Amino acid sequence: MSRASKGNSRLRLTVSGRVQGVGFRPAVYRLADELKLSGTVSNTTSGAVIEVEGPVAIIEKFVRALPRRLPTHCSIATMDHAVLPPSGSKIFRIEKSRAVADAGAQVPPDLNLCASCRAELFNPTDRRYRYPFINCTDCGPRFSIIQGIPYDRRKTTMSAFDLCPACAAEYHEPGNRRFHAQPNACADCGPQLRLIDASGKSLGNGNDALKKCARLIKAGKICAVKGIGGFHLVCDALNATAILTLRARKHRPSKPLAVMARDLRTAAAWCMTTPAERASLSSAARPIVLLRKRPGLHPRVLDILSPGNGALGVMLPYTPLHELLFADGAFTFLVMTSGNRADEPIAIDDDDARARLTGIADAFLVHDRPIHNRCDDSIIQLTGGRRPSVHFIRRSRGYVPEPIPFSAGPSAARIFAAGAELKNTFTLTRGSSAIVSPYMGDLDNEAAIRAYQLSFRRLRSFLDIQPSAIACDLHPDYASTHFAHSYAAKGKLPLIRVQHHHAHVASVLAEHRVTHTSIGIAFDGTGLGTDGMVWGGECFVVTNARFSRCAALEGFPLPGGDLASREIWRLAAGAQAYADIRSALPARYPSDMVRQMVHASLNSPLCSSAGRVFDMVAALAGLRYECDFEAQAAMELESLAAAAPGAARMDFDKKKVYNFTVLPGGAAPASGRDGGVMIVLRDMYRQIAADTAAGISPGIISLTFHRTMAQIIVAMALHARAAGGGTTVCLSGGVFQNRLLLTLAQNRLAAQGFTVLTNAAVPVNDGGISLGQAWCAAHGYRN
Ligand code: ZN
Ligand code: ZN
Ligand code: FE
Repeated sequence: MSRASKGNSRLRLTVSGRVQGVGFRPAVYRLADELKLSGTVSNTTSGAVIEVEGPVAIIEKFVRALPRRLPTHCSIATMDHAVLPPSGSKIFRIEKSRAVADAGAQVPPDLNLCASCRAELFNPTDRRYRYPFINCTDCGPRFSIIQGIPYDRRKTTMSAFDLCPACAAEYHEPGNRRFHAQPNACADCGPQLRLIDASGKSLGNGNDALKKCARLIKAGKICAVKGIGGFHLVCDALNATAILTLRARKHRPSKPLAVMARDLRTAAAWCMTTPAERASLSSAARPIVLLRKRPGLHPRVLDILSPGNGALGVMLPYTPLHELLFADGAFTFLVMTSGNRADEPIAIDDDDARARLTGIADAFLVHDRPIHNRCDDSIIQLTGGRRPSVHFIRRSRGYVPEPIPFSAGPSAARIFAAGAELKNTFTLTRGSSAIVSPYMGDLDNEAAIRAYQLSFRRLRSFLDIQPSAIACDLHPDYASTHFAHSYAAKGKLPLIRVQHHHAHVASVLAEHRVTHTSIGIAFDGTGLGTDGMVWGGECFVVTNARFSRCAALEGFPLPGGDLASREIWRLAAGAQAYADIRSALPARYPSDMVRQMVHASLNSPLCSSAGRVFDMVAALAGLRYECDFEAQAAMELESLAAAAPGAARMDFDKKKVYNFTVLPGGAAPASGRDGGVMIVLRDMYRQIAADTAAGISPGIISLTFHRTMAQIIVAMALHARAAGGGTTVCLSGGVFQNRLLLTLAQNRLAAQGFTVLTNAAVPVNDGGISLGQAWCAAHGYRN
């Protein structure tokens, strides 16, 4: 033995990156085995450690070959080398996982069914033929079933299932593609399907359950189907009556519903798809992609799925269960919407689903593999023609818990940032990694708040991050603020309250690692300003996390406060009063009363929200007077403008925008802009009312309005540049989900010599707030 190891050396490679749960150790094993090197590979809490022993030249060959031999979903961030004395080892082994001090292991997100497993699924001679939980080292559930790191079967919700001899053989055989696939299972030893009715009575098991479920859906019923990160409510998307029933039962009259298309070709029958959109649809994350409906194509169901909206949310099947369901029912499109009631969190437990979805779902397709981490479907959209870029509307399943590279700034703090109120996420940071939580939804109900606290506890302990500073919104009444406050108090930790729109802008700075002075423009719904007013149309100059507000939309009245975001006719009535417009609103609305309220400054707080400007314009243009959900009016305005003649032209001239005035601060009511300017929109409101009265089409009005908003953004940026803000503009806030406005603003700003940045790693909406809060806390923000 000693002679055999003469001239040998041993090298330890300490690897970080996405190396757990993606077939890294098996790949290392196979390479070492091929090269006849001895040694070990093991997962650690911070990544993986390889030790290889053999002739130096062969070890070098191993190190060179390794990057080329990585499985699809694997990526190495860093690899440190250390030379060790040879131990005389003879074989290569995968060792038991060990714990090391710094827990930073990257746990992979859930991965869609791979092609090899799909082929086995539909192969009648395969032993996993039609087994709905088939998976391998390249595919299957990950984050949603992981309870702790290092990633091992015993720390997942698969720990309750013992491998049968056949599965165990695959798991232990290095050449097998299920070698160390932690969720490996088959029909003999793994999770099983069950179809039950609302009372819990069994309607069938296994494949019988699947086939019965497909028949029910085909017959127009609604089924709750347990997926990867939670339950879906499923019905046939070709059946208008079924969709309307689902809408009625879910009390969701008009909010868009996402569909799952059988495959790419099917998706293209309803929607236009670019190559980049097709790539996103088929990516391992399998997000919902917002696609443009085909013009001239009008199946009635398309209008029921997303009324008044030019886009439809589409995804492709991502689990074996989905594939089987499509095959058994010969479906082309299925509605797949979150299995929840109103704004509550999506159900993940079988009993909870039955308790909460009874009355909505006719039957429940469940199974006994528990979901540990709730993870809604992600939603993305793409902008840009030749150089398309992905924008998140919701970043969750398929992406979480992938860390976002983060510049920690001067403090080495580990930060817990609690996020905002709506579309909440929270963030935990450690060093140069920020881990943004799954989508938590709106924290406006008890169930959501409880789910938020549970997710925080689980993710915190799972990542083993002990926060040393806490960040939250400036708004004192957000549930996330309350939680952050009590968490900080209990641990005697510093609490940093970050103004909402500062956090929006900071999320862009964080993502793009901007360190120089720059301009931040937040066009958003609403957030509490540092002056106690409601903000949402703001321009800042940012230097080292110090924000100075150098331009903002003029405050306008929000008659009835929060009520005005649903009853948007109130905004139009308010504009009539403050901009002296004489157009009439439909008689059913008590607009006289509201005008008097505004004149008397009764319950009419001033707000500068760009999101509310969209609502007001929709009402002034007679498009709609009430909203069922946030941004409904804005989506309609965007769809109308995008379909209007000339919408594709970006080089519009001055005649094609409405008038607005740039006023030095202090010259008009509701000023106090830190010596900045105020953008006065009264002329625009009057012109829109006049155009509407003159019968100009809503599409043209909306397109002109979009161009005006883009011009306002340019005017703000020019002012900020003159005030020393530099030439980088960061755009964020929910209004920039509007693809037309974003594209117009980007083009107009670029034409003025600005570098334009916006969110790509987190949503521009409030789902990105927690990352921005974390950045502010890390960079010494104080207000
Ligand atoms: Zn697979
Ligand atoms: Zn088995
Ligand atoms: Fe916001």
